[in-house]
Amino acid sequence: MVQDGIVQGVGEPPVGAEVVPLRGRALLPGMVAAHSHAFQRAIRGRTEHRSRPTDEGSATRAKDDFWSWREAMYAAAERLTPQDLHAVSKFCFLEMARAGITAVGEFHYLHRDASGKPYADPNELDLAVARAAREVGLRIVLLRVAYARSGFRVPENPRQKRFIEGSAEEYLKNLDALSRHVAVGAAPHSVRACPAEWIRDISQEAFRRGWPLHLHVAEQRGEVEQCQAEHGTTPALLLERLGVLRDTTTAVHAVHLSERDIAALGRARATVCACPTTERNLGDGVVRADLLLAAGYGSASEATRRCSSRRSRTRASSSTPAPDAGAASDPRPRAGRCLRSGSQAVRRGQRGRHALLGAARGFASPRRPGGFHRHRSRRPVHRLRECRGSDGQRGVRDGAHGDPRDLGGGEPLRLDFEGALPGFRAAKRRLWG
Ligand SMILES: [Zn+2]
Repeated sequence: MVQDGIVQGVGEPPVGAEVVPLRGRALLPGMVAAHSHAFQRAIRGRTEHRSRPTDEGSATRAKDDFWSWREAMYAAAERLTPQDLHAVSKFCFLEMARAGITAVGEFHYLHRDASGKPYADPNELDLAVARAAREVGLRIVLLRVAYARSGFRVPENPRQKRFIEGSAEEYLKNLDALSRHVAVGAAPHSVRACPAEWIRDISQEAFRRGWPLHLHVAEQRGEVEQCQAEHGTTPALLLERLGVLRDTTTAVHAVHLSERDIAALGRARATVCACPTTERNLGDGVVRADLLLAAGYGSASEATRRCSSRRSRTRASSSTPAPDAGAASDPRPRAGRCLRSGSQAVRRGQRGRHALLGAARGFASPRRPGGFHRHRSRRPVHRLRECRGSDGQRGVRDGAHGDPRDLGGGEPLRLDFEGALPGFRAAKRRLWG
């Protein structure tokens, strides 16, 4: 039974409850996209290619990888207006909702205007994204990203001027202001983009406030090498040294981990958030979920069972994978061996993903927010019913265009693609002509 978006219990409904039979459908837990960059929906289809080294053309085209993808991403990031950002994010969130996602962790790093100056409200862009999610009916946790620099001893990159803020204090002030409008998490981008002092100060404030903490960790070999040069250790071990690894910490990607890194994440019961499509398309490599699981149930396995796969939602899958050369030749077992069944994947993903966003722990847990997805099925399904109390609100409503009927954020999802399409098209036209 669900009332005002909160699961009240499971079992026979009390007298007066509205019962909504779900004939021919299964009621599934809403999935959580724990790592999203919604604005990157604007570059879907423009970066999923890989030139062969034998192709004619420039040397750059023959070396498509994470770093060349990043240049394409900057081309969009430099030009998006707040209206564009809202329109593109909304379309991305609509697609998530249609796929059964009801909550999203938005790792958002566009903060300033195109010239690099703060908007009158420094959270204008963050709020535009939050509004887009709300209009769709998704729960959102705004993982506002701190970005200080291009890298250790790396010249300033003018294409990052919309990401960078002046100090950790300025970032925390803006995050605090944002927290009055939307659920937030702290997100020092990476050990590459933030010096150690920023990461330490921001994480301490996150722990004090009870915010989740997300960071990109060891996505690229180059990042690990830079960290070794600056700190004499790996990103994961640097985070451990800084006291940043906890059970509320999420290491996103975490592809290039040593055994000591895996042990450190396990000791902390931190979460690893894998984004397999992204990690394939960008040639990052493969998350060693098998080793993380083997490190021990309840430690590193706790980390991997919280895998998410959803930055990929913001970009289309490519039929041309671009694997990292080192990862491709690595004979170790792959992540896919860890999850033996769909239900296991759903259980693991659901429990962990909700937990890392500070939302529900599992499906239909009493006194937890409910997020549900109604799935059409021709096969007989378990008899499930969803109902609400006598307050007159309907729990399940028809979606648009015969789409699945959903609940998100206590509200039915609003799958109004037609309404969102003109704004999305206009934004794409402004970006790409
Ligand atoms: Zn990311």
